[in-house]
Amino acid sequence: MSNPTPLGDLPQGVQDEVRLALESDQAPPKYKYFGDAGEKPMAAIVSRAWYEWQKRYRRLRKIVRRQRIIDRDGMTCRLCGDSITDTADLHIDHIIPVSRGGSSRPSNLQVTHAACNLAKGAKLL
Ligand SMILES: [Zn+2]
Repeated sequence: MSNPTPLGDLPQGVQDEVRLALESDQAPPKYKYFGDAGEKPMAAIVSRAWYEWQKRYRRLRKIVRRQRIIDRDGMTCRLCGDSITDTADLHIDHIIPVSRGGSSRPSNLQVTHAACNLAKGAKLL
């Protein structure tokens, strides 16, 4: 899984851009219709504009959610208790793994070292 840069680490201008995009970004129409047969189109496909938009929206939303967990937990590993000095070494861990029915709600997420998270994952396999 790719590790987006935490929102707090981005330049202020980029942070503002991300927040603004999430608040104001309007989705383009999801479907493109073909064959105008009166009130019923004959075919519909998902529009490329919508597809690109939701891909970008999901990426931005992921960055913001990640930052919320970091703001809540601070730069402290919830598995070993030590501080995390480098955000490249920071993982957001699912307390109850997704594979065991754990959710991606904030209450099931915690900040950990990359190594601590990977060691935990290996134990649960
Ligand atoms: Zn740790």
